[in-house]
Amino acid sequence: MRQLAATSRRHWTTGRELRTAFNAAQKAGGAIVLDDFGPPIPSPGPGEPAADFSPRPGKDRKAHFMTLDEYPSTNYAFEVQNPPVSGNHINGLGEAEHRPASPIFHTWQFGHPMGKLEFLFQGIRTRREWIALLKRQRATHRFTGEKAATKVPVDDPAAMTDTIKDLTRELGAVMVGIAPLTDDMLTEELPLDHPYVISFGVEMDRDAALQAPSEHAALTIQAEYRATDRISAAVAQHIRSMGWDAQAAIHGFLQIPAAVEAGLGQLGKHGSMISKELGSMYRLGAIVTDLPLVIDQPEDVGVDEFCAICSVCTTNCPPHAINDTKQLVRGRERWYVDFDACIPYFVENHGCGICIGVCPWSEPGRGEGFSLKMLARRDKYSAREANTHATTEETP
Ligand code: SF4
Ligand code: SF4
Repeated sequence: MRQLAATSRRHWTTGRELRTAFNAAQKAGGAIVLDDFGPPIPSPGPGEPAADFSPRPGKDRKAHFMTLDEYPSTNYAFEVQNPPVSGNHINGLGEAEHRPASPIFHTWQFGHPMGKLEFLFQGIRTRREWIALLKRQRATHRFTGEKAATKVPVDDPAAMTDTIKDLTRELGAVMVGIAPLTDDMLTEELPLDHPYVISFGVEMDRDAALQAPSEHAALTIQAEYRATDRISAAVAQHIRSMGWDAQAAIHGFLQIPAAVEAGLGQLGKHGSMISKELGSMYRLGAIVTDLPLVIDQPEDVGVDEFCAICSVCTTNCPPHAINDTKQLVRGRERWYVDFDACIPYFVENHGCGICIGVCPWSEPGRGEGFSLKMLARRDKYSAREANTHATTEETP
């Protein structure tokens, strides 16, 4: 119960007041001042940009297959009079040097710069969402444990890798890969030092995802996360029973970089991973271990080319938080979602996920075809470029 213990009794009380005031404001079309609730948060320091939680300008569109008649509006029932430091600044947007990520949201640290939004998000969960969350919390003790005193020798890491992957699939994963553990996968708060990470994905319920944002979608997500927790805990326990170190990597672990490195997919413009098989309709889990395993390689399936000519997520994201061009983040050029624009919408609506629901790769059975087409197009352009280059060199 590590996370829940982080909230004091006083905060639970103000959380209740917050929920009542927020619900009343939403009903009346007004807004509460978030600064009046919960613990204080630090103001931006010298030279630190303040967060701007307003939606960004952009084109609007709603995918016809999304279930809600229209997306919830970007008129939020809360406002912040003294904005904290920008979440994008915390996340290293524009920074040329590489460094580990800093925790931003889902931290349960209400004194964190994004703590007011976190406090509101946790405070306005429905009773059913709380029960689902508590069920998840109850299982966290299974993530670590004692290993067996005697180590089973591993003479054939390839065979051991197959065994572990088979076990992970038998437990319910639909994709699994192995990557070396790097600091791209760790936040400053999670200094794990195992050599390997086993990354896996379980399939999401697409019908529920298309109803996002809604309580049904939120409860389904909790159930899917419980499934990843259960698999992570069971695989870690199996490895420990062979005398090797293993623990489920859940809180504070950056699942997407691990999954990309393990060859499960590529980062999409919407900031989530896209896999050939499931698009973005998966939930990720991971186990870190020192069990000798054979690592997989990242796979280029053509997502970059596709995202360069697609704008479905950018036009469907109500606060227009998704950037159409790659950004420099902690020393890497990558697709980037504007935290300051996304999180307020996510909080107001108890979650979101419209971007992953509308992504064309998430339509069942489409990914393989998209990938083949993008890779063929790339080959064609490379061949054409090589020919042009050769002709230019030959021209006197
Ligand atoms: S979850 Fe996706 S669609 Fe929703 S606000 Fe964030 S970026 Fe936009
Ligand atoms: S909706 Fe289009 S642009 Fe957005 S992540 Fe999916 S493929 Fe890329």
